[in-house]
Formats: sequence, C-alpha cells, structure tokens
Amino acid sequence: MKAILPLFIFIDACGWELLKHDPFARDFAPYRKRLDSVFGYSSTCVPSILSGRWPEEHRNWCYFVYDPENSPFKSLRRLRWLPAAITSRRIFRRWLSKFVKVHLKFRGYFDLYNIPFKHISLFDFTEKKSPLKPGGMNRGPNIFDFLEIREIPYHVSDPTKSEWENLQVVTADVRSERIDFAFIYWPALDGLLHRVGNQSPALPAKLRQYEQWISQLLSVARQHYEEIHLYVFSDHGMANCDELLDLKSSIEALEVRMKQDYAVVYDSTMARFWFFNDRARCQIGDCLRQIPQGRILPDAELKQLRAFFPDRYFGELIFLVKEGVLIVPSHMGERPIRAMHGYHPGEKHSYAALLTNRPEVPDDIVAIPDIFRLMTRDAELARASNGACQAGTKWSVSELERFGTPEVGKAPAKLARS
Ligand SMILES: [Zn+2]
Repeated sequence: MKAILPLFIFIDACGWELLKHDPFARDFAPYRKRLDSVFGYSSTCVPSILSGRWPEEHRNWCYFVYDPENSPFKSLRRLRWLPAAITSRRIFRRWLSKFVKVHLKFRGYFDLYNIPFKHISLFDFTEKKSPLKPGGMNRGPNIFDFLEIREIPYHVSDPTKSEWENLQVVTADVRSERIDFAFIYWPALDGLLHRVGNQSPALPAKLRQYEQWISQLLSVARQHYEEIHLYVFSDHGMANCDELLDLKSSIEALEVRMKQDYAVVYDSTMARFWFFNDRARCQIGDCLRQIPQGRILPDAELKQLRAFFPDRYFGELIFLVKEGVLIVPSHMGERPIRAMHGYHPGEKHSYAALLTNRPEVPDDIVAIPDIFRLMTRDAELARASNGACQAGTKWSVSELERFGTPEVGKAPAKLARS
C-alpha cells in the first residue's frame, strides 16, 4: 500500500457548458471550477496543459505554417494531378497521412487534413514531436520531463491505443503500485461532439460511461493507495456550427493570387495570412473587414491572449470568426461538421472545466495551463509521501531546458484531433 496517487484524467472537449447542468462525477469529484481555455485548437491547448506555459512561450500553436524553405512536403506536390474526387476524400487523406507521418518520422499527432497538394510544398508542420512524451515540446520542458528528471514513476496514455485499452493499462499500473503519478488522456468525446453537436443524447451517455470507468479505476486505486488526488479536466468546450462561411471564395475572387501575392492557411475558425506585397495586404485586409462573421485580431489582443508571435511565424494577419461560424471549405475540411472549437476564449462554449475531490484547489488556478502546477505539486507530494525516490534537487526551468529533447518512441495517433 502506498500513500498518495495523483490521478489526472484529461477528457478532451469536456467543456464547462457541457457539465454545467450535468451531475457528471459529482459523487467522486464534487469540487468544480470553470477554467479559461487557451486561444487555438487542441494543438495548443494540450501542450499548454502539459507545460504550464502559453502559446507565445512554447510555440505549439497552429499546425500548418507558411515556410516553403523548410517544407517537408515537396514530394507530395506531384499528387496535385490526381482528381479532387480522390484527393479530397477523408479516407484517402487519412491513409496518406499515416504514410507521410512514418516517412517523415513525425512523433506527434499528424494529419494532412485538406491542404491542397498544389500548395502543400509551401507549408511546414509544427508538431513534429509528441507533447505526450519527454522532450515533446517545441520549446521548453513538459510534465514528463519534470517527472523523468525527478525519477517519479508515472503512467501516461498511449494515443495509439483506444480509451478502453488505456484504461486497462493504467488499472494494471495502479494495481502493481508501480507508479506515483498518472496522466490519462481520453480524446473520444471531442470527436463525438464534432459529429453530433453539443445537444445530442449521445453526450450524457458518453459521460455516464466515463463515470463508470473512473469509478472502477478508483475502486482499484483505493486498494493500493491511501489517498487518491483525483482531477478530471478538459482543454476547451464545443460550440455548434450553425453558420457556414465560404471565406476561400471571397478571397479567391480578389485580383491577388495565392503563392504569388500571399499565402494563407484556412483553419476551421480562423484564417492566417502571409503577404508578399502591399497590394495583397490591402485587398485582403479590406475584404476581411467587410465580413460580418469575423474580425481581424489586433496585435494587442493577441498579446493579451498570449498568442502573439513577433516573428509572425504563424501568420502576419489572424482573422477569427464568431462562435458558431464555421469556415468551410477550409484546409481542415472540405465538408461541414456539426460543432467546433477554436473560437475566442471569451466565447461561451470555449471554457474548460476542472473537477476534483480535493477541496484545496488554490484560487490562482484559473486557466488550463495552471493545471500543470497542480500536477507538479501533487507529483512532488506523492514522491515525498510514497518514499519512492531518493532526495532530489529542486526543479528549475533552466535545469529542464538542459534536459534536451531525447529521441522518443513511435506514437502515431489513432484518434482524430482538431
Ligand atoms: Zn476537436
């Protein structure tokens, strides 16, 4: 029997609005808190939770950026001759994404989404490492670097396994008392919400399943650890998409041309532009200002959101739509989906949630990167109480930065994420 098990269960897209009127987990995690999310998609929310830092610091923001010199996709350009009826199909894109990921030795989540092959050699992909591994951040350390350097034995979900399979693995780890910390990542609710929207009866059903799984895990954990510090949390919520915006057609109706005059990535809720001349900057800026469904984000606001990049690596101009609007077609998808996230963090459905059995969550835990502080605090506490490790040195960021970026194992993601 060990003293303490910190159990961090991350349910993707299980936002505050979804839980507000649902008794989810009240029996075993009665203390609830609404958390601010981070501006961006899961590609930035997950790394922010895992590192305790913001996009401007860790630089894991949006997936695709204009960077023709460093584009690893040059060989895919020849696929531009294939008919769109094939190349725009999800099944073809998924198959090709898997192939490209292995070929390019990408270790994180990878999807070609709907980037046209005609332009793919203009872009680089920014998540080449897995944030769920030590050394997995674009910049700085994450929780797994912290645990490794302090020799705290831990469990982390493997994204190549299903939620159920991961539950079996963590249950076995708990039963063996091998670990002093567990990080469980369940992404399926996100995919379900994208498909069915936030009002479907499928959602309470999925929440009941998660409750049952957590209860089962807790009953095993109680036999092996005196105290379980349980935290169930999310990265963002999900808004139904009731309005479609064909931004691409509006931009392509202008005189200026993609590749010659500008480059753009159409994410599903934002469009990010790079300009090669003033004509493009003016025409596109004027066009965007006429579109009532969204607005250009000023630098001051991006700075406030801690997603401003002085080198404009992720785009010179960021256009963001209002909650409920979906840019379609986009480089993320050819066809509409029922619900989406990645709106302004101040929009109603953007907020995340934290549920716990610990009454003493500090007042300064207000946004999803703050979960990192709970993780390090409880991991330290478990290590000290469980007596599993020898006395260590005090952790510092500079110490971890020197830890470097070790080669990590193969981790192709089976579950789609956006
Ligand atoms: Zn998503």
